[in-house]
Amino acid sequence: MIQVMKKVFKSLLLAIGILLLVMVLKAFVFNTKPEFNSLNSPTASSNVDGSAFLRFSKALQFRTLSPSGVDDSMAIQKFQQLHHWMKINYPVLAQKAIWSVINQGSLLIELPSMNKTLPAALFLGHLDVVPVEDSSNWKYPPFDGTIEKDTLWGRGALDDKNAVIALLESAEAILKTNKIPQRRILLAFGHDEEVGGNLGAAQISKYLKDNNIEIGFVNDEGFGVMEKVIPGLKNDAAIIGVAEKGYATVEISVEIKGGHSAWPKRDNTTSVLTSALKKLDETQFESRIQEPIKGLFESSAPYMDWGYRLLFSNLWITSPLVKWVLNQGDKTAATVRTTHVTTIINAGEKENVVPPKATAIVNFRLLPGDSIKNVIDWVKRTINDDRVKVRLTGNSNESSPVSPSNGLGFDELHNSVNEVFPSAVVVPGLAIVGSDCKHYIQNCDRIYRFLPYKFNSVNLTGIHGKNEHVIRADFENAVRFYTVLFGKL
Ligand SMILES: [Zn+2]
Repeated sequence: MIQVMKKVFKSLLLAIGILLLVMVLKAFVFNTKPEFNSLNSPTASSNVDGSAFLRFSKALQFRTLSPSGVDDSMAIQKFQQLHHWMKINYPVLAQKAIWSVINQGSLLIELPSMNKTLPAALFLGHLDVVPVEDSSNWKYPPFDGTIEKDTLWGRGALDDKNAVIALLESAEAILKTNKIPQRRILLAFGHDEEVGGNLGAAQISKYLKDNNIEIGFVNDEGFGVMEKVIPGLKNDAAIIGVAEKGYATVEISVEIKGGHSAWPKRDNTTSVLTSALKKLDETQFESRIQEPIKGLFESSAPYMDWGYRLLFSNLWITSPLVKWVLNQGDKTAATVRTTHVTTIINAGEKENVVPPKATAIVNFRLLPGDSIKNVIDWVKRTINDDRVKVRLTGNSNESSPVSPSNGLGFDELHNSVNEVFPSAVVVPGLAIVGSDCKHYIQNCDRIYRFLPYKFNSVNLTGIHGKNEHVIRADFENAVRFYTVLFGKL
C-alpha cells in the first residue's frame, strides 16, 4: 500500500514539475518580445509645420455641434464654414485631392495615388462635437481654442478634431513634397458621429459602396497610446481596437390591475418588476477570455514582470484566475463579459395608488459572440416569469466582427507606432463604446480603432467632459505618425 502511494505521489510530482516547466517555457522562451527594426527612421523625426498647432486652435473655434436632423440648417451651416476654412488652410490638398461633400455636412477627401487598383486606406474622423453643459466650469471658454504655453484648450481637442487636423496636416505635408502615395488614401469626416452617424458615416459608406470603391482597411478613433491600463504592464500600451462591443436596450414591463394601496394584492406590478430586476442583478453573463482580449494579454505578457508574465502567457490554464481578477474591476470586467445595468425605472404617480403598469429599461453591452437574440433569450430565461414582458427597444447594434491582428492595416499601424512611440507596446483591443466605424462593416473586414495620441487618467476626463485639452508635443507626434503611416501605404 505504501509502495503504491509513493508511486502515485512520485507521478503527481512529476506532472506538476512538467506543468510548471511548460508554463515557464511558454512565458519566457516562446512568448518573447518581437524585434523592432525601424526605430529612428528619418520620417519619424521629421519636423511638423510650426503653424499647425495654430490651425488646430482655429478648427476648435467652429461650433460644430451634432445636428439634430437633416433639416438642422443652423448646425449644418457651421460644418460648411469649417469645410471652407479647410480648403483655404490646406491649399495643396484643396488643389490636388478630390473633395466630395456628403449629405451637406460630411466630407470625403481622396488623395492622389499611383495605383488605383490597390484597395484604399480609409481614415475616419468626425467634425461634430458634443455640447458643453456649463462653460463656466472650464478653465478657458470651450470654443475659443485658447493656447496657453504648450496646451490647447477646447471642445474637440481630443474628440475628434485632433484626428481630423492631424490627418489634414500630414496629407498636406506629403502632397507638398510632391510624393504620391501608392494606394488611395481616403479621409472621411462625418458630421454626426456623436448622435449615431446615420447622416454622415452611414452615407459615406453607402457612397463608397455605390461607387465600387474597394476598401483595404479602415482606421478610426477608439483607442490610442494608453498609460497604465493593462494590469502588470508598465509600458504605455498602444491599443489598436480590432472589435467593438454591441449595444442593446431591453424594456421589461409588468401589467397587473392596480388598486388602492390600503389593501394591496400579494403580487402587484412593482413587486413583480423588482423581483425580476433583482434576478437580473444577481445573474451575470458568462465571462470569456477570447479574442481580442486574449491577444491583448498575450502580446503584452513579454513586457510584464515575471509573475504577471507567467499568468498571462499561460491563459490555457490560468484563465479562471485571470477572469476572476478582471471581474473585480468595473472597466476590466466589461472586457470579458456582456454587461447589463438597469438605467430607467418607471411606475406609479400617486402615493396611495398601486400602479397598473411598471417598466424598466436595461442597457446591455455585448461581447463579440453574444447576439442580441442571445440577450433577449437570456433575460427571459433569467426572469422566468410569464407576467413579465420583455422586448427590445431603442437603437441597437450587434457586436462587431473581430478584425485580424496582423496583415494590411494592422501591420502598418503597428510599424508606425514602433517608429513614433518606440516605448509603447502594441496590442489588440476591444472597444467598449462605439464610433463611426460600425457603419463601414459592409465596406471592409479590416476595421481598426487607433488614434496616435497619448491618453491618461487626466486628459481622458476632458472627452465629453470639461477642460478638454491637448499638448502640442502630442499633436505633433500624431502628425508625424500619419506622415510615417501614409509613407507605408
Ligand atoms: Zn469621437
